[in-house]
Amino acid sequence: MFIEPRVGGAGHTVKRGWIEVICGSMFSGKTEELIRRLNRAKIAKQNVEIFKPALDKRYHDEDVVSHNANAIRSTPIDFAQDMLLLGGSCDVVGIDEAQFFDDGLAEVCVKLANSGVRVIAAGLDMDYLGNPFGPMPALMAVAEYVTKVHAICVQCGDIATYSYRSAASEQQVLLGETDSYEARCRHCFQEGLKNKK
Ligand code: ZN
Repeated sequence: MFIEPRVGGAGHTVKRGWIEVICGSMFSGKTEELIRRLNRAKIAKQNVEIFKPALDKRYHDEDVVSHNANAIRSTPIDFAQDMLLLGGSCDVVGIDEAQFFDDGLAEVCVKLANSGVRVIAAGLDMDYLGNPFGPMPALMAVAEYVTKVHAICVQCGDIATYSYRSAASEQQVLLGETDSYEARCRHCFQEGLKNKK
């Protein structure tokens, strides 16, 4: 489990920011882990703001909703840049579905962290073809802490890191269709791709 770093010490007054990334495949518990970290900050009366890309309209508009319906209020925004205005005065900024944001995401997170904000971003590290997803690689590079969470392979029960798409669509972004995906290990993911050809 991720243990928050101890900031400061006696006489420490400067607000220190940093970046945490929670990544993994679908069904790996990324959002649950994000919510766990954010709730603890909220209990400590820290000022928390949560953002998600406006295109993710699978569930209720204003909620970050994990698959276990452990919801937390969030603000849908169109551009990563919007976070600078809306989240600049927060102690903690949470980001869900970070993979769907534009390429400006890493730079925005760096600016927030530099100004003293703790940034926690959750997102898919790979798309359904097993390629790095959107702004995630850049974000992982500039983060202090990267946590890769794993799912369980539906086929063999091994550790799963891939989101295998059983539906036929070629779009990288296929929303609201968790039924069309399954978590798979490296071996079963490769087997699945082979069988599709
Ligand atoms: Zn497997």
